[in-house]
Amino acid sequence: MGIAENIRSIKNELPPQVKLVAVSKFHPVEALQEALEAGQTVFGENRPQEFEKKAVALEGRGIEWHFIGHLQTNKLKMVLPYASLVQSVDSLHLLDAINEWGRKNGKVIPVLLELHVAAEDSKQGFYEEEILDVLFRAESYGNVCFRGLMGMATNTDCEEDIRADFGRIRACFDYLRDLFPEYEDFTELSIGMSGDWRIALDYGATIVRIGTAIFGPRVY
Ligand SMILES: *Cc1c(COP(=O)(O)O)cnc(C)c1O
Repeated sequence: MGIAENIRSIKNELPPQVKLVAVSKFHPVEALQEALEAGQTVFGENRPQEFEKKAVALEGRGIEWHFIGHLQTNKLKMVLPYASLVQSVDSLHLLDAINEWGRKNGKVIPVLLELHVAAEDSKQGFYEEEILDVLFRAESYGNVCFRGLMGMATNTDCEEDIRADFGRIRACFDYLRDLFPEYEDFTELSIGMSGDWRIALDYGATIVRIGTAIFGPRVY
């Protein structure tokens, strides 16, 4: 199937309130153009340089850009001018730097806090109690808007393990929303990728991040 068809068939299955982020990393600008022509307007990238290049190349096309990768603080200027949402805030150091960049540039940066749950050591993210600490001090981040949580399930074929991971992320999300009802913008739960987005819907995903199932395999 082609890109346009893939997007249409995924959108057919997605509840209307769930946002589809087309993860276009490693794919050329032409592939994004094809997706745009099929009506896809939200794209996700995970490498700052590639993100900036594509954002500049496709400026004025009405794209909503999400950054979904590990972000080093010396690369903020490649990402923050273009990102509608930074989904992958995974450390206090990064959060502080984003807030400082926002202060200097007169902007409020919408972010998701990345929750570490997957079994792989390589997965980045905060632990539950760290996120709790951040939100208790949310007032001190005047140039960041906390929009919710992002998480990744363990990369496995075992559906039970995936459900356990998504269940933990959802439980953390519900707990935080109950604890901080005053943070009315904290509404987004970004879970689900090509292999597990249908499962993620059972756990209340509001955003799914889908690459391979739209664009095909990545050539690294
Ligand atoms: C690459 C990536 C995705 C998309 O992965 P697919 O399996 O190709 O759908 C989603 N989220 C993050 C954080 C990624 O890095």
